[in-house]
Amino acid sequence: MVTSEAVPFAKTGGLGDVAGALPLALARLGHDVTVVLPRYRGPQAGTLVERLPITIAGRTFDVAFVEHAMADRVRAILVDCPELYDRPELYGIGNSDYPDNPVRFALLARAALEFGARGDQGPDVVHAHDWQAGLALVYLKTLFKDRSGLSGAAGVFTIHNLSYQGLFPPGWMPALDLGWELFGIEGIEYWGKMSLLKGGINFSEIITTVSPRYAKEIQTPEFGFGFDGILKRRGKQLCGILNGIDVAVWNPEHDPYLPEPYGPNTLAAKDASRRALLDTLGLPLTPEVLARPIVGMVSRMVVQKGFDLLADLADELLTLDATFVLLGSGEARYQTLWQGLSDRAPDRVGVRFGFDEPLAHLIEGGADIFLMPSRFEPCGLNQMYSLKYGTVPVVRAVGGLDDTIDNWNPRTNSGTGFKFRDYTPEALRSSLEKALALFRKPKSWRAVQRAGMAKDHSWDASAAEYVSVYEKAITLRRMGNRTASV
Ligand code: ADP
Repeated sequence: MVTSEAVPFAKTGGLGDVAGALPLALARLGHDVTVVLPRYRGPQAGTLVERLPITIAGRTFDVAFVEHAMADRVRAILVDCPELYDRPELYGIGNSDYPDNPVRFALLARAALEFGARGDQGPDVVHAHDWQAGLALVYLKTLFKDRSGLSGAAGVFTIHNLSYQGLFPPGWMPALDLGWELFGIEGIEYWGKMSLLKGGINFSEIITTVSPRYAKEIQTPEFGFGFDGILKRRGKQLCGILNGIDVAVWNPEHDPYLPEPYGPNTLAAKDASRRALLDTLGLPLTPEVLARPIVGMVSRMVVQKGFDLLADLADELLTLDATFVLLGSGEARYQTLWQGLSDRAPDRVGVRFGFDEPLAHLIEGGADIFLMPSRFEPCGLNQMYSLKYGTVPVVRAVGGLDDTIDNWNPRTNSGTGFKFRDYTPEALRSSLEKALALFRKPKSWRAVQRAGMAKDHSWDASAAEYVSVYEKAITLRRMGNRTASV
C-alpha cells in the first residue's frame, strides 16, 4: 500500500485513518501488507532495513527504509529522505503547498516500488491512495514494467477525495522521469496540466472510492470536478467500498479520552462526557446549559464541509435550542466567524481551532447531535464514529453520509439520524430542528441513539470487499486488459 499518511504515523484526515486500519483488517483475513509512507518530522522509532540511492531525472536521493511493525503480517516502511520530508507539515504551510510536492510524492512512489521489487517475490497488488500515490501506478506500468518481482503486480487506486487532483504544470513531466507519450488524454494530461490523480485512475486495473454513493456521484458533472468523463470511461472498473471505523480506537466503552465509559445500555453515563466537554470548552455548567442539546462538529473548516451554509445561518444558530461545540482547522474566514459567535454567546458556542485528537474523541462522547452538512462527502468517518457514540448525526444526504445514515421516520420510530437533501440553509435548519425537537422526547431519543449504536461499521466487511477487488485486479492484470469488465 502506498499512501501519504497512515495512523499512527501521520494523519491530516480520513485517508490517514483508512490507511492505518485497512491493512490491519486485511491481515486479519490472512493477507500480508506493507504500508509505505514518508517518514515525516517527529519521533518515529523503527528499524533501518535498507539504504538505497534513488535517482529521479538525474537527481539522486539517499533513501533509508525504516521498518515499523504494525501488527502480525503488517509492517509500515517509512521512507526516510530528510531533504524532502523533514518539514513542519505534511503537504505545505497554511494554504500554500510545498512547491516540490511533485518530486516529494514521485520519490514516495519510486521508493515503494524499489522496495517491493527487491526480492524475488514482490507484491500481488500495489494499492495506491489519492493523487499523492498516483505515480506509483504510472511507474509500475512504465519504468518498472519489466522489473522481476513487480512485473505481474496489479494496480488498485483508491480515490478518497476527487477534489484534490494533483495538478501541476507540464514542465514537471521530464523532471519526474515521465515520457511525453504519457502526456495525452489516455495518460495523465488534464486540460494542459499533468494530473497525478488521473495517473492513478488510468494506470490501475481497478479504481475504488470510499462509498457506493460517491462512486456513482463522481461520474456526474455535479460531483465529478471535471473528472466525470474520465471516470465514466472507466466505470466498469470503478466501485465504491465504504470505509470502516477502527473500533479499537473509536468505542465509548473503552475510550481513554472519555471521563467515564458508556455503551448502549449505560447511556446515562454519557452525561459525564457532556459535562467534561462543556467544561473543556469553557461553557458554564449551569442547569440551563446542561439541559440544552449539544451539537458537535469536528471538521476541516472548508466549503466542502458545509461551512458556507453554516455561515449563512450563523445568527439563527444562536436562536436555536442548542449549544454548539466546534473543533476545526482550516480557512481563516470561518475561524473568525465562529470565534465571533463564541464571543457573542459564550454560553452557547464553544470553539477550538487546531488539530486535537483527544478533543475529537470528547466531542463524539459529549455531544448529543453531530452535524455534517457537507456539500460533498466521499465517505465521512465522523458520522460513523457518532453512531457508535450514541451521538445522533444530522447530515446532508450525499456520498457516504447518505449510505451510512437512515433518516429518522417518526411514523415507524426507526432510523439512525437526520438527513437533508438540498444544499440550502433552510434545509439544514429544518433537519437540525427536527433533531433538536426529538431530543426533548427522551424515549424516542434513546431509540435513535441505540439504533445507531447497533450498526456495525467495523472494517472487517469492507476489508473483505477490498480482497475481492484485489482478486479481480489480479485477473485483469493476467488478462493484460485494464478495461475489461469485471
Ligand atoms: P476528511 O478526510 O474529508 O477530512 P473524514 O470525516 O473522512 O473527513 O475524516 C476526518 C478525520 O479527521 C476524522 O477522524 C476526524 O475526527 C479527524 N479530524 C478532522 N478535523 C480534526 C481536528 N481539528 N482535530 C482532530 N481530528 C480531526
